[in-house]
Amino acid sequence: MPYRPSRSRSPGGAAPTSPATLRRANLSLVLRELREHTSLSRAEIAQATGLHRATVSNLMAELLERRLVREVGVEHVGAIGRPRRAVALHGAHVGALGMEINVDYIAVHGTDLSGRSLVERRVVHDAMGSGPDSAVRRLGLVAKEAVEAMRRAGSVPTGIAVAVPGLVDVTRGVVTLAPNLHWRDLPLAEQLSSILGPRSVPVRVDNDANLAALAEYTSGVAAGTPHLVYLTGEVGVGGGIISGGELLRGADGFSGEVGHLQVDPNGDRCGCGRIGCWETKVGLAALVRAAMPEQAYGLPGMPVPDPGERVADIARGLASGDRRMMTAVAQVGEWLGLGGSILANLFNPRVIVIGGYFASLAQWLLPHAQDQLHRLVVAAPAAQCRFVASTLGFGAASRGAASMVVNHIIDDPTTILDSLRRPAPY
Ligand SMILES: [Zn+2]
Repeated sequence: MPYRPSRSRSPGGAAPTSPATLRRANLSLVLRELREHTSLSRAEIAQATGLHRATVSNLMAELLERRLVREVGVEHVGAIGRPRRAVALHGAHVGALGMEINVDYIAVHGTDLSGRSLVERRVVHDAMGSGPDSAVRRLGLVAKEAVEAMRRAGSVPTGIAVAVPGLVDVTRGVVTLAPNLHWRDLPLAEQLSSILGPRSVPVRVDNDANLAALAEYTSGVAAGTPHLVYLTGEVGVGGGIISGGELLRGADGFSGEVGHLQVDPNGDRCGCGRIGCWETKVGLAALVRAAMPEQAYGLPGMPVPDPGERVADIARGLASGDRRMMTAVAQVGEWLGLGGSILANLFNPRVIVIGGYFASLAQWLLPHAQDQLHRLVVAAPAAQCRFVASTLGFGAASRGAASMVVNHIIDDPTTILDSLRRPAPY
């Protein structure tokens, strides 16, 4: 029987051998086909998947019982009006909660299997100053509020994924190192599950830029571009690489740590302890220090402002022609292009999507960055790589986190069945 390995399958995962594994794979195959179409008849699904017609009917009975698909009635197609009983993805009650914790905010994005956006929110939170215990408690509180909001919208979250700016052991849900949060070896999935209670839905943790790259690939400005690099500019700088339509994770899942490429051996000390990392040149802290030194990060007694407000202040200054800000943003743009050229030389992407504050200030950053890219990419102009600004905003990582939960549901629909039957956990 046909079987397509899922995108999010871990490397080295076992091939299906037992009837239960095979059935799970085929349920997933049918759901994936339905996700790509508005509605399909059983015969069309059989044809598209290569599964036997009787097998499709059997799988469909289970998916209908689980309310993951719905009958959309009898449609008449073709000149002779042959009736066609079609099914479509249902899943409005099947929720997925994506979260992101960063240096100065927590973002949430709740969606359901049918793609509705149910909750979208960002709260200011000083994770840098609060310490891991307090940050995880706050994450738990925000998660509970989001779950409640999703329930009110008629959807039960079946999984939570948290995006973190750092190295993540995805298998164990442990944040190995998040320099800008001052976290090391933090068992985040376990701690968050414990706050959410014994009946908590599964909690996963992943790198923020990897998840944002996934969001760009599935629903962003360059959606469907199989060779894509995503860069996010916050206080830290992260990267996610889509190569051949797949997220590149590396041997331990630690690829994409582009913020810590050393670009200036005589530069400033980075949050990671090294000298002259790329993010000391292009991170939001570097820009604020150059553009508005009186509001630099880390000054004693300064409240933590909303990063969006900080960036908006700089955008206003740039629009009014503030010379200090123009100089600061030109410098950052040149460093952005220099780092981008290293990635373009390595991965030959078609686009480099810039998110976070890079996107908010794209009109001022990109001319400088694109010039550098053109100058430093060996294969330019044949490589045809260009910077484009993300349209997903600060919510890209949380949106990608929600997408990952949805992908897990599609990959293995049987995992959510029990969680949907349980009473409300919170
Ligand atoms: Zn560093």
